[in-house]
Amino acid sequence: MSDEAVDHVLVSVEDGRFTAVEMGVSEPPSDAFRLAGLTIPGLANCHSHAFHRALRGRTQQGPGSFWTWREQMYALAGGLTPDSYYDLARATYREMAATGITSVAEFHYLHHGPDGTAYDEPNVMGLAMIEAAREVGVRIALLDTCYLASGIGSPPVGVQLRYSDGDVEAWRRRVDDLAATVARVHRSHDVVVGGAVHSVRAVPRDQMPHVARWASEREAPLHLHLSEQVAENDACLTAYGLTPTQLLDDAGVLGPGTSAVHATHVTDEDIALLGRSGTFAVLCPTTERDLGDGIGPSRKLFRAGSLLTLGSDSHAVVDLFEEMRAVEMDQRLATHERGHWSAAELLGAATFDGHRSLGFPDAGRITVGARADLVTLDASSPRTAGTGCGAETAVFAATAADVAWVMADGKVVATRDDRRDIGAALDAVIDRCLAES
Ligand SMILES: [Zn+2]
Repeated sequence: MSDEAVDHVLVSVEDGRFTAVEMGVSEPPSDAFRLAGLTIPGLANCHSHAFHRALRGRTQQGPGSFWTWREQMYALAGGLTPDSYYDLARATYREMAATGITSVAEFHYLHHGPDGTAYDEPNVMGLAMIEAAREVGVRIALLDTCYLASGIGSPPVGVQLRYSDGDVEAWRRRVDDLAATVARVHRSHDVVVGGAVHSVRAVPRDQMPHVARWASEREAPLHLHLSEQVAENDACLTAYGLTPTQLLDDAGVLGPGTSAVHATHVTDEDIALLGRSGTFAVLCPTTERDLGDGIGPSRKLFRAGSLLTLGSDSHAVVDLFEEMRAVEMDQRLATHERGHWSAAELLGAATFDGHRSLGFPDAGRITVGARADLVTLDASSPRTAGTGCGAETAVFAATAADVAWVMADGKVVATRDDRRDIGAALDAVIDRCLAES
């Protein structure tokens, strides 16, 4: 249907998909359910570490850097169990659903027991994420992350033992088992098993092509953290004489099935490599500002050929409306000019393009045959009233608090009445996780 907001739209849904989308319907059938407000497609959260939600409000105290934040995150990661990981993810995904998110990409690296020993079911942690998402009713791309090194040339230490499979071959076997289990147990069209190269720090150069090959052979999405920190670039240049982007390009990791998360500190040559390869750029502006990372060159990446997608990453904020807005606002601060991104482009990044990058290309549009996701915003809240009820209302006025009703795959997964209950669930599970960390 139109990219413009239009009035009086009647949609029909069967078996989780739109079967009709009619515009200009002034007299809807008597049994139609009326969605009052501005209704947009479902949002795709393209970068999540669900357990980081427990750090909100706690890691914002005092001075520090990305690296001091990471120490606090590692302390939390050390105490999580399959049960607490599931409960925390479930509450976090409920928060996401209530903000209009209908698909999440979980960048999952907490695989093993506290000392690095595999659980009896080696994928119990990843399966916990999948079950949590399915319970809530959001789709999940479980990006099983290869993490083999503490830094370039140094073995995993401490809690990182929980992340590491030892070598890429063991990682591949475990992920293939996970995919087989998902196919056998879930038989579901709402789960994608993908892969991830944690970063150039955590995967040695000679192992990277194996992860890339795994993803291309299975046509699975492949994600990676890229140049979030200047220190990562420096270490990579020192060790290999290449930027992280050059190294990944050399290893065959870039391409249209790949998504590079952050891409904050990239050179013009890096941008050309990313764009030419068709790699998606996943920006996470609220986390990047929370951690003091910097501002990624979103528009330059887009012009070079990298489609933009968005993620809430550490969940310092779960609000893709804020992420959309921040992409444009950050460019204004960096360039002293306005109008880099249109509201329609940003909405496309958060919906259709985001879903494509996760392996759900039939989601994120209100069109016949697409998955039936709808997100209705209150268009008369103190924030949204008088803003014209178009794409600009969603991107430059609304917040997650304006989301009133959410449907994913034809099922209602959140309404505004759920908020207290979601808050209580988050309170309870975060208290427990922090007590156990
Ligand atoms: Zn991340």
